[in-house]
Amino acid sequence: MKGKVYLVGAGPGDPELLTVKALRILKAADIVLHDELIGPEILALAPPGAFLHNVGKRCGQKSTPQEQINSLLVTLASSGLQVVRLKGGDPLVFGRGGEEIEALRSAKIEFEIVPGVTAAVGAAAATQISLTHRRVSSALVLLTNQHCHEKAGDDWRQLVSSRATVVIYMPGYNYEATSRRLVEAGLKSDTPCTIVSRATLPEQQVYHTTVGNLPGAPQLPAPTLLVVGEVARLADAANHFEVVSGLTRQQPSVSLATHLSQEQDLPDREQSA
Ligand code: SAH
Repeated sequence: MKGKVYLVGAGPGDPELLTVKALRILKAADIVLHDELIGPEILALAPPGAFLHNVGKRCGQKSTPQEQINSLLVTLASSGLQVVRLKGGDPLVFGRGGEEIEALRSAKIEFEIVPGVTAAVGAAAATQISLTHRRVSSALVLLTNQHCHEKAGDDWRQLVSSRATVVIYMPGYNYEATSRRLVEAGLKSDTPCTIVSRATLPEQQVYHTTVGNLPGAPQLPAPTLLVVGEVARLADAANHFEVVSGLTRQQPSVSLATHLSQEQDLPDREQSA
């Protein structure tokens, strides 16, 4: 059989968010080269005889270099294997899918891309935050805070606006610097923001705050992402999910209203909810 590479998005974590197509392709894989973030429940869906290999990369940590992953994909597919390159979220959103596409094209390897639910979308659904909302946000900006993605001159002023929802992937834990960067980019310090840790997984945690108060936010377990913008004010605060109020999970849950009312008046909708 002719070898082929599938760049497959596995979604944000919940195995039920795999697409039907991703599941079908995973079940027929000879070999799965997967990211660090892919959970055991999803990997267990590969056939028993398939070879699973973690090529997980974290910026700044030891991992398989991208060039090596590219050449693995080419070599394995050239030997006739059905190769699944399984990535968290969507393969083309901060997933280096672009580099793998280039390598496969230049080696003339057949490949197919299977989209996945990107983390921003998974986190939005899990926290009931509408990423765009007719009244407050007409654009969605996906950013990364990670230095290995940062080009010289990468200026958030061109990207961030009060009418846009900004989702920051790989936000890291230097919340003071992130807060400063957002304010320098033009956001008011009372702009609401939400940290979502391990979105869509059973251990998901959510912390609501504001850009100005971000430096005091807890360091929730990775992976996390940060949703910034007026839409975060419209999250469901009714404790449908755990809202962490401090450094430990044992502390009592605190509603969105409690956090934001320290800063400003809430819209009527929140108070009557
Ligand atoms: N291709 C992926 C993103 C890879 S970059 C996608 O489309 O989602 C890895 C970053 O994604 C993490 O540092 C984190 O910011 C975010 N991320 C991935 N899964 C997540 C999850 N379950 N909860 C919160 N953030 C997540």
